[in-house]
Amino acid sequence: MAENQSDSSQRLGFQTEAKQLLQLMIHSLYSHKEVFLRELVSNASDALDKLRFESLTNSAILGDDTELCVRVKVNETAKTITIADNGIGMTREEVIENIGTIARSGSRAFVESLTGDQKLDSNLIGQFGVGFYSAFMVASKVKLVTKRAGEGRTAVVWESDGQSDYAIAETDKETRGTEVTVYLKDDETSYAEPYNVRSIIKKFSDFIAFPIYFPNEKGHDEVINQTKPLWKRPPLDITSEQYEEFFKQLGGFDKPATTIHSKAEGILEYSFVLFIPSKAPFDLFLPERTHGIKLYVKRVFIMDHCKELFPEYLRFVKGVVDSEDLPLNVSREMLQHNPVIEKMKKTLVAKVLGKLSDMAASEPAGFAAFWDQFGPVLKEGVHSDYENKDKLVELLRFQSTLSDTKDDLVSLKQYVGRMREGQKHIYYISGESREIVEKSPHLEVFRDKSIEVLYFLDPIDEWLVNDLYNYDGKQLRSVAKGDLDLGDLGADDEKQKDKVESTYKKLAERIKNILSDTVKDVRVTVRLKDSPCCLVSDEHDLGPFMEKMMKAMGQDVPESKPILEINGFHPIVENLQAVYDKDPKSPLLDEWVKLLYDQALITGGGLPKDVTGYAKRVNELLLKASKEAAA
Ligand code: ADP
Repeated sequence: MAENQSDSSQRLGFQTEAKQLLQLMIHSLYSHKEVFLRELVSNASDALDKLRFESLTNSAILGDDTELCVRVKVNETAKTITIADNGIGMTREEVIENIGTIARSGSRAFVESLTGDQKLDSNLIGQFGVGFYSAFMVASKVKLVTKRAGEGRTAVVWESDGQSDYAIAETDKETRGTEVTVYLKDDETSYAEPYNVRSIIKKFSDFIAFPIYFPNEKGHDEVINQTKPLWKRPPLDITSEQYEEFFKQLGGFDKPATTIHSKAEGILEYSFVLFIPSKAPFDLFLPERTHGIKLYVKRVFIMDHCKELFPEYLRFVKGVVDSEDLPLNVSREMLQHNPVIEKMKKTLVAKVLGKLSDMAASEPAGFAAFWDQFGPVLKEGVHSDYENKDKLVELLRFQSTLSDTKDDLVSLKQYVGRMREGQKHIYYISGESREIVEKSPHLEVFRDKSIEVLYFLDPIDEWLVNDLYNYDGKQLRSVAKGDLDLGDLGADDEKQKDKVESTYKKLAERIKNILSDTVKDVRVTVRLKDSPCCLVSDEHDLGPFMEKMMKAMGQDVPESKPILEINGFHPIVENLQAVYDKDPKSPLLDEWVKLLYDQALITGGGLPKDVTGYAKRVNELLLKASKEAAA
C-alpha cells in the first residue's frame, strides 16, 4: 500500500470504506453540492472550539495568535476556494487517522442508508460525520495543510484527487491550524465566484461562534457572519431557516420536528436550544449510539455528546446547552452527580416532555409522526424515569382495533374515555405486526361486543405492561392470556358457557389426551365467535410473542405450554362431539384435533412443529371433500 518517496513523503491508499464513500461523493451526489462549504466551515469551527478548550488549561498554546477565526478565500483564475482556520490542527498521525481511514462506524452506515434520493442523501452527509469528503463533490483535487497547535510541531501536507490514494508529506507552515484548498472541477467554478461563495457561507454560518473573514470588493478581509451564538440571541430574531441550518450543523438531517429555545435565569443561569428531530438517527438502538447535546460553559465549547444532561431515553434530543455556573475546566468526571448538572437536567427534561405533550395536544398528526420515529425509545422512560413516569404514560400511543390506519393512534386516556359501560379493564393484544394481530381469533369476542383492544406491536410493549400494570385504576389485560374476564359485558356469554361446559367435558378430556405433549389444558371458551379454537397462555406465562423475542435475544426461556380453548358453539366442535359420542376412541378425532391445534398455532402468529404432517392432514381432507364434490 505504501510507496515511500522519501523519509517524510508517502502515498497511502484509502481504506476501503473511505474509497466507497469517495466514489459516492464523486459520482452519485449531485444536488445540494454547496453543503461541502458548510462541512468545511463547521470542521474549522470545531477545530477552533478544540483549541479554545485546550487553551483553558494551557494558555501558552495560543501564543500571540489570539483571535480565533476562519478565513475563506477564492481564486477565480486558479478556480480554487480555500478555508483556513487557526484552530487545533492535526499531526501526521491524526491526518492519516481522521482523513485517510474514517474508521468510524458512521461511514459504513452512511453508505448503507443512501436512499437514491439526492436531497435526502446529501442531508445524510452531516449526520454521519463524513463531511470532509463532501469536498470531492466539487473538487478535482483537495489539498490540506495543517499544523498541530503546540511548540515546534512540523506541518503536514495531504493531497488527493479522491480516487484511490493520497499523498502525505512534511511541509512548512508558520501558523498553527488547517488550510483546506479545493481545486474545483471545470463545471463547478461557481464556487470560486466571490459573490456566490459569500452568500452561501453567510447562510451556513450565522450561528458559528467564531468570525469568518471573507475579502470585500477592495480585497480587505471582513467578517461576514454574526458571531453571537444563536442560542444567545433572542428567539424572536431567529428565523426558522436559521434554526434549520443550526440543526444541520449539529448533525441533524431533514428538518427538526420542533425547537425549544430558552434561557434560565435565577439561581442557575443557562441558555439552550434543543431540537427534537423528525427522523430517528440510524444508530438510535445501536450500542455505539451517542447523545446529541453539546455542552458549552460561558460560550466556550466543552464537549460533544454530553450524556449527563438527558436520560438515555431522550438521547435523540439535539442541541446546545450553555451554562454560566459550571467551571470552565469542568471534566467529564465532574459532571457526574454534579448538583448544577442535576438541576439543569431536571428542567431540560421537563421542557422536552412539556413540549411533546403540547405537540400531542395541538398537532396530533405531527405527534403521530414523531411517535412513529421515537415512540419505542420514549417507552424506555416509563421503565427508567420514575419521576416522570406519569407524564410519559400520557404520551404513550397505540394502534388499536378502532384505528383505520397505522397513524391513527390512541392514548390511554382516550381509550379509557371511550371504554364501554361496564368494561373494567384495558385490553391489549401483542404480536409482531398489525397484519398478524388484527386477524387474531382472540379478538372475535371483542369485536362482537365492540370493546376496543390496543395493539402492542413493539417488542418493548410487553415490558411496558410490567411497568404500567394499570392506568387510571384499570388493569392492563392481554386478550390471549388467562381466563377471559369481560366483567358485566360477558355475563350472558358466561351463562351460555356454563350450559355447554358439561356437554363437552368428556370430549375436552379426550382432546387433552391427544395433545398431552403440547397443551396444559383444554377448556370451553366464549372468546371465539367464528373460529373453532384458539390457544391462550396462562395468566403468568410469557406468551408466545415474548418467548420468541427472548429466544431471539439468546435468553433461556422456560418452555410453557398453552391452553387450548374450544368454541362450543362452532359446528366443527359440535361434529367432533357427535363423532366422540359414536366412538370415543375414533382415530379420526386424533387427526382432526392435531389439525385444529396446528391451525390455532398459525392464527396466533406461530408455525406448526411438524409442517409436513399438517399439510398431509389438510390434503387428506381436501381429497375427501374434492371426491365428494366431483361425484
Ligand atoms: P466529522 O467532522 O463529522 O468528524 P469529517 O470527515 O468532516 O467528519 O472530519 C473528520 C475528522 O478530521 C474530524 O473529526 C477532525 O478530527 C479532523 N478534521 C477535519 N477538518 C479539520 C480541521 N479544519 N482542523 C482540525 N481537524 C480537522
